[in-house]
Amino acid sequence: MNEPAPVAAVQTQEELNPFRVSQQQFARALPYIPQLKKGLIEFLMSPVRTIELCFPVEMDDGSVRTFRAYRVLHNRVRGPGKGGIRYHPDVTADEVRALAGWMTWKCAIVDVPFGGAKGGVVCNPKELSESELRRITRRYISDLGENIGPHTDIPAPDLYTDERTMAWIYDTYDMMHPGRNNLPVVTGKPIDLGGSYGRKEATGRGLLYATEQLLRHGLVAGLQQLNGAKLVVQGFGNAGFTAARLFHERGAVLVGASDSQGGIYQPDGLDPFAVHAFKQQHGTVVGMPGTRTVTNPELLELPCDILVPAALENQITAANAANIQAKVICEAANGPITPRADDILTSRGVVVLPDVVANAGGVTVSYYEWVQNIENEQWELDEVNAKLRKKMSAAVDAVVQRWEDLVKKFPTLPPDTPPIQLRTAAYLVAIERVSHVALERGIWP
Ligand code: NAD
Repeated sequence: MNEPAPVAAVQTQEELNPFRVSQQQFARALPYIPQLKKGLIEFLMSPVRTIELCFPVEMDDGSVRTFRAYRVLHNRVRGPGKGGIRYHPDVTADEVRALAGWMTWKCAIVDVPFGGAKGGVVCNPKELSESELRRITRRYISDLGENIGPHTDIPAPDLYTDERTMAWIYDTYDMMHPGRNNLPVVTGKPIDLGGSYGRKEATGRGLLYATEQLLRHGLVAGLQQLNGAKLVVQGFGNAGFTAARLFHERGAVLVGASDSQGGIYQPDGLDPFAVHAFKQQHGTVVGMPGTRTVTNPELLELPCDILVPAALENQITAANAANIQAKVICEAANGPITPRADDILTSRGVVVLPDVVANAGGVTVSYYEWVQNIENEQWELDEVNAKLRKKMSAAVDAVVQRWEDLVKKFPTLPPDTPPIQLRTAAYLVAIERVSHVALERGIWP
């Protein structure tokens, strides 16, 4: 039996910088691909381009504020860069770098012909009016200039951006490039502006299909089906609410939900539509009648079968991983679990369906939207969902198969070697696919 070489030394202080977390995750796969050309490793671990912008915007009251923004292109070996744009006060260059890399691996795992990219604007959308958000978006996109385009780098929604933001992005780009079909420059657009049926709910729906497929493989001890499973969702936004309502349709019982202001718990079950309606009316899920208020850290530790983090990075760390009661964690958010938390969860038998597989439904239907835009077509919802199910199931199968092969090949690991996880297998599948195409194309020149 070949033993994998040990990876980087165990750290004493937990790494929470998302970019370094993503590099650690990548490094954990490397011992299992000794055939990977050494010179490619640094290339695959680093973004090929990081754009940092700084621009002034006139506010509604006549004052002027300066905003900082990023667009990172991680890799374009398998196709144009693809990735969402996030509006959040805590956006940093390293966060966007991490998110761009995760996009590269995600697109390879679901096998859509895109590379990875991501964007972010440092702002607090809750404190901005619609017209201020529109001016920020227009200025950001016009300053990005030729760095985005239908065949080079294609944005999409992410945290605190939505169809409305995508419509402004399209309009700005179209004003700058008149006289041609610019619809494929951005995905997640409104349906009457070239959006695809099923895109808005694609991340949550993809999570459902991926989770169902994982359960079919029988990898989660004591959980064979969604029917009757207790569900907790952190982050009741687009991805979280859609997942909650679709899991609920399959018989899962939503017992906890949260947003940025806190969470609610009701062990007898919550109606996801009622939670959504309450949040629409009151701006938060907190205070919903008949529920107990919990903090976000408490919410993660509630008794349940399935935990869906659908908010931000670094929610499950070495500090709380030992307290998680779920049998399986399905990562709708990007990067919610640190590598050290991953190991603690594995040692306790908690299965993690990693982000690069679990939330890939969004980019998959973004790809379908892009194809429809190029061909001037509009597919039926059933067709989109059937294609999505096939892609998500195939992605889970490929990752589970790789994981089973690895575990069989390496039944014991050297001391201090992280356990083989579904995340390790997912990275392997992705790195192999991207590096294979890189070498097939030939290193330029
Ligand atoms: P969204 O803006 O629609 O919703 C985010 C939700 O998270 C909101 O309800 C917000 O209140 C809540 N939230 C914010 N901070 C929180 C905190 N500290 N604790 C708990 N909840 C908090 O965003 P979204 O599009 O649903 O994205 C959520 C996550 O899913 C992000 O990590 C994003 O990268 C990931 N994701 C989204 C897509 C997509 O297509 N939208 C695709 C793949 C992955």
